[in-house]
Amino acid sequence: MPAASGKDYKERLKKMKPEIWLNGEQVKDITSHPAFSGVIESKAKLYDMQHDPLLQDLLTFKTGPDGNRAGTSFMRPLSKEDLEKRRFAAQEWAKTNAGLLGRSPEYMNTTVMAIGTAYDFFSDGSRKFGENARSLYARAMEKDLCFTHTFINPQVNRSVTYFEDSEEVIAAQAIKETADGIVIKGARLLATQGGMTDEILVLPSGGNFIAESYIYAFCIPADTPGLRFICRESFSYSQNEFNHPLASRFEEMDAIVVFDNVLVPWDRIIMFQNCEKAMGMFSEMHFNALLLHQVLSRQIIKTEFILGVAQSLAEAIQVEEYFHIKHKIADIILGLETFKALLLASELNAKQDKRGTMVPEVNALDASKMLYAKLYPSYMEILQQIGASGMISIPQEADFLSEISSDVHTYLQAASMPAFERVKLFRLAWDLSMSAFGTRQTQYERFFFGDPFRLATGLYNGYNKEPYVKRVNEFLSIRN
Ligand SMILES: Cc1cc2nc3c(=O)[nH]c(=O)nc-3n(C[C@H](O)[C@H](O)[C@H](O)COP(=O)(O)OP(=O)(O)OC[C@H]3O[C@@H](n4cnc5c(N)ncnc54)[C@H](O)[C@@H]3O)c2cc1C
Repeated sequence: MPAASGKDYKERLKKMKPEIWLNGEQVKDITSHPAFSGVIESKAKLYDMQHDPLLQDLLTFKTGPDGNRAGTSFMRPLSKEDLEKRRFAAQEWAKTNAGLLGRSPEYMNTTVMAIGTAYDFFSDGSRKFGENARSLYARAMEKDLCFTHTFINPQVNRSVTYFEDSEEVIAAQAIKETADGIVIKGARLLATQGGMTDEILVLPSGGNFIAESYIYAFCIPADTPGLRFICRESFSYSQNEFNHPLASRFEEMDAIVVFDNVLVPWDRIIMFQNCEKAMGMFSEMHFNALLLHQVLSRQIIKTEFILGVAQSLAEAIQVEEYFHIKHKIADIILGLETFKALLLASELNAKQDKRGTMVPEVNALDASKMLYAKLYPSYMEILQQIGASGMISIPQEADFLSEISSDVHTYLQAASMPAFERVKLFRLAWDLSMSAFGTRQTQYERFFFGDPFRLATGLYNGYNKEPYVKRVNEFLSIRN
């Protein structure tokens, strides 16, 4: 089968009937529901790009001699050129959404590729988990499936001493093993695009490996009986692109995932009750390195967009002559150039692993991940500081068409543009940095890859500091 088109993707979603709840009601057809339709259209456009003759070579690759093509994000990198192609492809997609689709399909496609290429690691005695990992990758690539995923247990009690031992099951666990598979009961947080994808990948959640019932990894269709997605409030308040230029198109939705006695068939399981594999799988499949290469490619496009918005605001009201405004925008440039350098460094220092996969250098990517989580909120603050009250004086499109339109046309003009264009620009900056959609983006960039504080601890623990301590000791021992 060739790579999917937007139509294929939408038809598949329409056919599936996942159980999705929003505001106390079950959503019957997400493709036509206003909370989801905007982002589904944006995703469909990405799939259509795979069929554009000018982009086909970049966004797809030949999977074998039969000439079939799959999306580039499924391509296992075997060389530095492959990594470069994956970067260009991710960025071509990201440019269509200003990097705001954190879960553009290539994020999870990359995860599935990482699992599939390390499939042998999942083999577990007589259990065919290795085969399942391999067929997950093959199935995803062949059908151009898209995925959501979940790692995190409900936020009941995060104390180090807490372990759930009540009768009432909260964190999802395997409560039964049958000839057909395992039965999962309980909940997981938080699946971005939950219910809007073909399948959901459920990965082991750190910290709960004491009991075997919590140690599992599997991938099942989003409409598996008993699987339920409970959505937060939608931030796509209207489909009007003037009023909500970003939310109307890129609101991805996040959902709590409930497993109401879900039967997971054996052929969908890739790991079960094996603590060693649960602990080792992420490093074995180079999860951080392969995923963060995609993440940083997207974040660079996002930062370029933020820079463009900041400069446009400054020019609109002609404040770019002030030094503190220049310094603020220079801070964004500083980050952007650092991120571009880190991405290139990760490719330059990439090495083949024991399976032949070309793995980007992880330290540069780990550093970028933490830096981005730190800097992104400050970029949003910069937009708010440059825009000042302009971020609030943003009437809606209907005001420009109403009987008081001459007021808004007169009083909202900017030095360099008429009122309609100025409000359009400032609404964009507001939707990026201040609306419910914008603040969710900030929370996303802080947390989507894990808690930045614990990740920093991980970087510290894993980083080889020894040579530098040795050098200091040598320096101290030298006497002229
Ligand atoms: C917008 C958004 C989208 C997301 N999408 C997904 C998704 O699609 N799939 C998915 O699996 N996850 C997703 N996540 C979840 C993400 O993985 C988690 O937010 C992240 O791992 C942090 O976990 P937590 O939110 O449970 O925070 P908690 O672990 O509850 O942390 C709360 C606070 O306590 C501190 N804390 C807690 N425990 C410790 C500790 N042991 N040591 C030090 N400090 C501690 C943290 O630093 C933090 O300040 C998403 C998150 C957001 C915000």
